[in-house]
Amino acid sequence: MPDELLDRLRRFHDDAFPQYRQQFQALVDEGQHPTTLFIGCSDSRLVPYLLTGAGPGELFLVRNVGAFIPPYDGSHGHHGTTAAIEFAVLNLKVRRIVVCGHSHCGAIKAMYGEVSPEAPNLNHWLDLGREALLPMQPGPEVLRRTEQRAVVLQLERLMEYPMVRSRVQSGQISLHGWHYVIEDGEVHVFDVQTGGFVPASQSDHSGTGPYQPYVEHDGQVLVDE
Ligand SMILES: [Zn+2]
Repeated sequence: MPDELLDRLRRFHDDAFPQYRQQFQALVDEGQHPTTLFIGCSDSRLVPYLLTGAGPGELFLVRNVGAFIPPYDGSHGHHGTTAAIEFAVLNLKVRRIVVCGHSHCGAIKAMYGEVSPEAPNLNHWLDLGREALLPMQPGPEVLRRTEQRAVVLQLERLMEYPMVRSRVQSGQISLHGWHYVIEDGEVHVFDVQTGGFVPASQSDHSGTGPYQPYVEHDGQVLVDE
């Protein structure tokens, strides 16, 4: 039986890695300095590097079921997402935080149904998105709206992290709410001015948080509320 995964590892090392060798060596010598914390759903169809054109060293990535943000108060117990946010903001000093949900999200759909009793952790985790639920039958339009509402809900929870809030308010960090439509290959970005999601092809910015106007990467405020 050929081990396909082993073949892929060898192919990466032999064929792909040589063209990146210098880049990775520099990232080892100088350390990583990613400017973006990308918090995305674990869904295999969401490929952050493809979407953003980012390469090695550019994205500090956190992925979990639903792209959810646990509360800062630790009430959800030990959590890797919370630890990653603290590390990215305090140690790496990222300038942007992207929260990226997507169409056909299994986590959002699961919130409208029963979760298996064998998955108590998943059930508890989904509590982080339940506020976004709509009191309707979960048809395609309701699911899409719920996916988008969940992104905004997570941005709001992110603002409860003191180190995030203070930096957003001082213009050091910008928040970006994204909803990726898999079948269109297009990200819809949250716009605080309209309270809705705008396709990237029609938006004049790459998304805003729930409270703050779009902040340019150098901290300059482009749009006043
Ligand atoms: Zn998902």
